Amino acid sequence: MTSNNPLLDFSGLPKFDQVKAEHVTPAITHLLENGRVLIEKLATENQEPTWDNFAKPLEDMEEHISRVWSQVGHMNAVVNSPELREAYNASLPKLTDFYSDLSQDERLYAKFRALKNSTEFSKLTTAQKKIVENEVRDFRLGGAELPESDKIRFKAIQESLSKLTTKFEENLMDTTNHFAHFVEDAADLKGVPEDAIQAAQEAAQADKKTGYKFTLHFPSYMPVLQYGEKRELRELLYRAYATRASEFGRPEWDNTNLISEILKLRLEAATLLGFRNYAEMSLATKMADTPKEVIAFLDNLAQRAKPFAQQDMKELTEYAAKLGIHDMQAWDVAFVSEKLREDKYAFSDQEVKQYFPEAQVLKGLFKVVETIFGVHVKKSDAPVWHPDAAFYEINDQHGKPVGQFYLDLYARNNKRGGAWMDEAITRRKKGNQIETPVAFLTCNFSAPVGGKPALFTHDEVITMFHEFGHGLHHMLTKVEEYGVSGIKGVEWDAVELPSQFMENFCWEWDVLRHMTKHVDTGEQLPRELFEKMVAAKNFQAGMQTVRQIEFSMFDMRLHGEFDPHGKASSLDLIEQIRDEVAVVRPPKFNRFPNGFSHIFAGGYAAGYYSYKWAEVLSADAYSMFEENGVLSAETGQRFWHEILSQGGSRPALESFVAFRGRAPDIEALLRHNGLTA
Ligand SMILES: [Zn+2]
Repeated sequence: MTSNNPLLDFSGLPKFDQVKAEHVTPAITHLLENGRVLIEKLATENQEPTWDNFAKPLEDMEEHISRVWSQVGHMNAVVNSPELREAYNASLPKLTDFYSDLSQDERLYAKFRALKNSTEFSKLTTAQKKIVENEVRDFRLGGAELPESDKIRFKAIQESLSKLTTKFEENLMDTTNHFAHFVEDAADLKGVPEDAIQAAQEAAQADKKTGYKFTLHFPSYMPVLQYGEKRELRELLYRAYATRASEFGRPEWDNTNLISEILKLRLEAATLLGFRNYAEMSLATKMADTPKEVIAFLDNLAQRAKPFAQQDMKELTEYAAKLGIHDMQAWDVAFVSEKLREDKYAFSDQEVKQYFPEAQVLKGLFKVVETIFGVHVKKSDAPVWHPDAAFYEINDQHGKPVGQFYLDLYARNNKRGGAWMDEAITRRKKGNQIETPVAFLTCNFSAPVGGKPALFTHDEVITMFHEFGHGLHHMLTKVEEYGVSGIKGVEWDAVELPSQFMENFCWEWDVLRHMTKHVDTGEQLPRELFEKMVAAKNFQAGMQTVRQIEFSMFDMRLHGEFDPHGKASSLDLIEQIRDEVAVVRPPKFNRFPNGFSHIFAGGYAAGYYSYKWAEVLSADAYSMFEENGVLSAETGQRFWHEILSQGGSRPALESFVAFRGRAPDIEALLRHNGLTA
């Protein structure tokens, strides 16, 4: 089933009106079979590799596979069905295998290296050069240059790491799932919101028990910590949460040894590749150059934020005393903070929401984009997967297409939660034609009810701007080669720049007020309410900043200077870092590292700093708009030209400096967070 398979029709937009689960396996099988034939041909061909005879065919192959797989993945996420899920899960391991073989094919590596060292290389475009360089780098980081014996060891390390990190996550899940605390007396739940109590009662009933069941899952645990008046209950849950997967629980679920094993193996892998430590290896593909640079960055932020964090802590301690808590403990912090927040900023999300009907918000978002980039956004038509989904196009001032996007805003059954941007079609030159980039923008906001339009909370409006920022990065690229077009090839610690940049407009009075129109009265958002929203945004910003720095610093020093074979434990290291930066001291029994799955099971090892790093970039980029007028078209053109259009075709730092005229600076972020005098 390849001749009339809509997934294999690469003309124009995806055929969402025709694609069915039964098309998935034949399409993927066909593409991977052709892919393997092509790889074999390219790897064994007896001719000098050039862009056209070697790199380009590989790019074409990858583009086809990922275009098909993005449609399948998208449908699996937004209109899930048992048939689709089965087809998706059946193809996933085949793709993983395919790419794993591809990334380890030494014959291809040799060809890429030959291409890089050939006379032809200097004649390639910047984007083509970058793609070849990235390939050589990634093969090297994958161990392709190692002598045979080391290669075997390197592969074994990767396999062990994959098992250990999976086990880390499983242990954490198992301890989390295993814990349950039953409250018999409803009086002990004073303060806890009604919906959380109801959920706890239903959970107990499901277990055929009386009373209320509380677990360590966030929606069960957090409301008690935040609102529960009974201190002992807060302490009990806090203690269980803070000691997950540690020596205080079941030995088979203890992550302590896994941490040490993971660190040792990462260090060994890095050393084999010639790095001094794992942090250096992690940074080889990131915008930040050295662990030293990251630590200096974090130190600088810590110094600036700490006085504000101390002030936050002082205010909190004083407020706790007013509530009769004279020895504030870790399990009181969320509770007292919530009381203080309610006291200082009395407004509700519900109140704000009435001012943000969908149509007004979309109009406001498009207006910002149209004003700063000189483009035009308009609704258009295309086959979609669900009646809720809509299709739009972005044209330049001459009416020429720049990009297109699907918008699927509402939560519904069989749709994965969260919000994200994904690439449907990536911009590239194909013959003499330019393929117009297409994005999927997916959110999970409340659908319209009771004949009223959909209303968004301010957080949801921010989410929408954020994802649209990723979308702009993808759609406004001018790159003509697939591998570094749009968000492709952009460093991990820089990829959130355009998305977080767009969020800033949601805090700009002159932008925001035009996006508001009360659903009943038609009035704009009152200025007074806006001021409260801004103040609430920066509530405890000092404390939150030093907390993020604590985690980032721990991660970077753990993978940089820490010796996993030495006497000190990771717990000793985090205590030392807390001495330097923290204002809230967790109790001695707290085993934070044992639950830090971002770095021990996720992709954030020696990369947790990226959150703050990207915030600095986006705030600093935005500050240029603040200087020149927040809707300055001239600055917008410059942002488009130097950052958005460049994609991954050059280092993010180069793009940033070209736009801003200097290296990134932390001042704007501190100012936006209210952390300046
Ligand atoms: Zn993002």
